[in-house]
Amino acid sequence: MDLLLDTDCVIAACVPEAAPSPDAAAAITRCLDEDGTVWLYAGAAQSYEDGVLRALQDTAEHRVAEAQTRLARQRLECFTQDKQWLAALGGDFARFDAPDPARERLLNALDRLPRGAVKILTRDEIFVAAHAEQAISPAGYLALPPAVRRIDFIDLPAQQAAIRPQLEAQIHRVLHHGRYILGPEMEELEQRLQAYTGAAHCISVASGTEALLISLMALGVGPGDEVITTPFTFVATAEVICLVGARPVFVDVEPDTCNINVDKLEAAINSTTKAIIPVALYGQPADMDAINTIAAAYGLPVIEDAAQSFGASYRGVKSGNLSTIGCTSFFPSKPLGCYGDGGAIFTNDGELAQTMRELRVHGQARRYVHTRVGVGGRMDTLQCAVLLAKLDRFDWEIERRIAIGRRYSELFAAAPHITTPVIRPDRTCVFAQYTLQVPNRDGVVDALQSRGIPSAVHYPIPLNVQPAYQHLCCPDCTPVAARLAARVISLPMHADLSESAQDLIAEAVIACVRE
Ligand SMILES: *Cc1c(COP(=O)(O)O)cnc(C)c1O
Repeated sequence: MDLLLDTDCVIAACVPEAAPSPDAAAAITRCLDEDGTVWLYAGAAQSYEDGVLRALQDTAEHRVAEAQTRLARQRLECFTQDKQWLAALGGDFARFDAPDPARERLLNALDRLPRGAVKILTRDEIFVAAHAEQAISPAGYLALPPAVRRIDFIDLPAQQAAIRPQLEAQIHRVLHHGRYILGPEMEELEQRLQAYTGAAHCISVASGTEALLISLMALGVGPGDEVITTPFTFVATAEVICLVGARPVFVDVEPDTCNINVDKLEAAINSTTKAIIPVALYGQPADMDAINTIAAAYGLPVIEDAAQSFGASYRGVKSGNLSTIGCTSFFPSKPLGCYGDGGAIFTNDGELAQTMRELRVHGQARRYVHTRVGVGGRMDTLQCAVLLAKLDRFDWEIERRIAIGRRYSELFAAAPHITTPVIRPDRTCVFAQYTLQVPNRDGVVDALQSRGIPSAVHYPIPLNVQPAYQHLCCPDCTPVAARLAARVISLPMHADLSESAQDLIAEAVIACVRE
């Protein structure tokens, strides 16, 4: 359980010599030790400071007023380091004539946090008795059974905690300027992403799927055309091909990288082929130079589906900027995720970029002049603002992901029956998923679940045998994808995954595979 601190507990923790309550300090320490969050309420900051100062004044030492003020601030500065500030919002202050306005505000603020997961920690037993659902005393908290350690597949709350001030400032800025569509944050984001990938143009769009769809529309792919892609990917890759009226042609994948097998690519090209969509599966780019060379020989454009690989590089160039067009997704669980849907398109072709910008806004060349059939495919300003807050930490996150992926592979190196992901030496993988191959995969998934370790399968059914797509392809023509679909299992992966959690996961996986 997380805690929101009442002023009396802040005083007890900061001035133990004046307000002896070892319980309050112990409760706070225990919450942090159990990976819980200790919240401070921004609306109570002044009362925290006043309270700590008054408590210091009550002690015999530190008689000089200035020294006391300095000491109070030092103690608070130190105390707040590993805590989270819960924003004070206007509505919290609606009632100044409440019987206990400070507590009323605290209750209003608590109401924004998930119900039951957080309680106000207070030494006021009368308040606890009156609000048993919302408040708990230090002694009451210390009497709770120890929290079970939870392992998350992706830990978005930890990331949020690390960037909360920037995030809240960005979101509030949008609330106040009110340009919810095509606002200044969108332009800033496009510039930053463009600079990050090195591509000449970046067009933010409503999702990764929309990015792929707009790309195909811009290239004029339509009925009667074929588009070559992989069957071992998220469904959106093939879906967009069908949506523009073309036919997906599935080329089998490599057994080690799980990416499209370039050796089988050329045989799939014919006179109706209009484009190739390789996918950077799990965050590792496909062999883009080889694909581009074949495509160039046939005059075909290449769209990289970089939905899982934003931040990865191939021969020193960032994923997304490796072919005619690159598409990425900012779905919350992707390596760079917003708090809703979002995506981006990259290209070095100015004319294509202009076309895609117009397609994104209903094919509009000027206000209410529609020169082509487009879509409503913009990314909203709030989502752009969220990404701006996340970008400052992104390079660190990518380094962490790469290091965590490497460490997983070391932990599994000697384990029998476990195949670790292969990363080619000329590229990096950002591990949108860290995916192993194991025998009896479904059994391993169940065994892990019973040990409280989440896992996922990316992907259990290749697209060429999906009900909606199976008529497009012979079921047996991609045997490698079929074998992978039965063997892959993705493990928890996020930049804040601790070594101890990783050790726990690895031990469990090794044990479950052995069973
Ligand atoms: C997530 C994903 C998409 C779709 O992105 P959305 O933003 O969810 O529309 C497309 N292709 C691949 C490979 C993906 O992983």
